[in-house]
Amino acid sequence: MGVRYGDEMIVVDAGMGFPEETPYGVDISIPDFSFLEEYRDELTAIILTHGHEDHIGALAYILRKFNLPVYSSRFTLALAEKRLDEFEMLDDVLLHRVKANDIVEIGSFRVEFIHASHSLVECFSLAIHTPAGTIIHTGDYKIDDTPVIGKPYDLATLERIGSEGVLALLCDSTNATVPGRTPSEQAVIPAFQEIFEETEGRLFVSTFSSSLHRLQIIFDIAHEYGRRVCVLGRSMLKNVEIASEQGLLKIPHNTLIDLGDSRALDDDEICYLVTGSQGEMRAALWNLATGIYKGMQIEKGDTVVLSARIIPGNEKNISRLIGHLYKRGANIIEEKRRLVHVSGHASQEDIRIMVETVKPKFVVPIHGEYRMLFRQKEFIKNHIAGYDDDNIILIENGEILEIGEHSTQIVEKLEIFKTFIDEESMEEIEYETVRERKKLAYGGAISLVITLDKQSQKLVGEPIISFQGVAGIDPLNGFAAEARETVVKAINDMTPQQIADRPVFKENLRIQLKRFLQKEISSKPVIVTSVVEL
Ligand SMILES: [Zn+2]
Repeated sequence: MGVRYGDEMIVVDAGMGFPEETPYGVDISIPDFSFLEEYRDELTAIILTHGHEDHIGALAYILRKFNLPVYSSRFTLALAEKRLDEFEMLDDVLLHRVKANDIVEIGSFRVEFIHASHSLVECFSLAIHTPAGTIIHTGDYKIDDTPVIGKPYDLATLERIGSEGVLALLCDSTNATVPGRTPSEQAVIPAFQEIFEETEGRLFVSTFSSSLHRLQIIFDIAHEYGRRVCVLGRSMLKNVEIASEQGLLKIPHNTLIDLGDSRALDDDEICYLVTGSQGEMRAALWNLATGIYKGMQIEKGDTVVLSARIIPGNEKNISRLIGHLYKRGANIIEEKRRLVHVSGHASQEDIRIMVETVKPKFVVPIHGEYRMLFRQKEFIKNHIAGYDDDNIILIENGEILEIGEHSTQIVEKLEIFKTFIDEESMEEIEYETVRERKKLAYGGAISLVITLDKQSQKLVGEPIISFQGVAGIDPLNGFAAEARETVVKAINDMTPQQIADRPVFKENLRIQLKRFLQKEISSKPVIVTSVVEL
């Protein structure tokens, strides 16, 4: 999100997304930042509200295009630094560490960082003070009165800013469909105590590696019940390391153990904290469940706790993961059966507290699908006095909302594309490549090799045609021979000038072959033609 006043613009968060349907080998997408080109000279800073991937995952990519100073908490920046380091960009970027209640002056903007509670730690809501008025950007939040790590949401600061007058509240909608209050991070403690109490075999707990309150609870309860904790999975190890270095995660003495030493312990003396709660292949839990983890696997008698919600789009993978775990004889504890997970986002009554504390002139629901934005609007309209269609504004990605003292207006709609990221190299993949992959996936490919005599430009021998992944082809029924005849006839029908003009020649052959295939097998493979001269 860009926030602009006069000829200055700051950017709030730069996250990556995970397309619900994996388009042909692409698991990660980021915004296409080219829409910001128009404002290149106006951009002054990037502010990160917190360290989740959907808020910082695109930082390296946006900084490559626009090298701006970045402001955020020590913990968020430590996460960002790891990633920037992988891209060898650390020396070229300016990172400013800020604390809750800090106010940073950036041109005409005064950005006030407000301590927010969420499933992660050191998160901010922002008060963006401008000459035109103050905007509150909630970031991701819930109003947690008793978080495990850190203080409750700083409602006092919010109230003070509210009393000074707030022009617009940009408010997290992720849980706007959920009635009531979001339970505190502490709400999962009783269920975990019971699980540790009653489990006799090995215990595996899988959660998001960024859910630091949850990790703290597991370390504490494991210590209480005499189990050591072994952390498995790259992102989990990284987050535990950073958070304990910074004193945010307090690991009880003699609790953390490495994989090698953990093997010498009895089954009731160990708890494995593992990545992969979303059924991600390649994550530790998937590998343990399918027997490809280094020398260890889930066995009969193990208990596996899935301490996370199902992120929409991951249902199938999680279901397959659970199938594998059952096959190995594990006992599985999910969110549906015990309170082993709470959300990090504001439910309807948290949203009510937010709106009533800030008392903004305008509310703009943000974060989440359109359905959730809509439901936030409906909830506020129906339950909080003074808000209606005129002052709750629904906007979509790409829309530019102009907020004035008395009214708002959508002044422009930009088309915002996605840029896909290759998960192996973490580099950008062009949109054309994804389109090509899609075509290949649906129709397969045909490669056609034509050999021509250099002097006469006449066909030498027969064209070579090979098929990859093309449906409806039987190699024995003469189909390939007919396809070859079609190509030979097409070449014979062409003038020497047409043959000499290679692009025209190739395109002609492609069209003829395509017509033949459509008639014979109704399929549209990608056709790749090569010409060899002898
Ligand atoms: Zn978040």
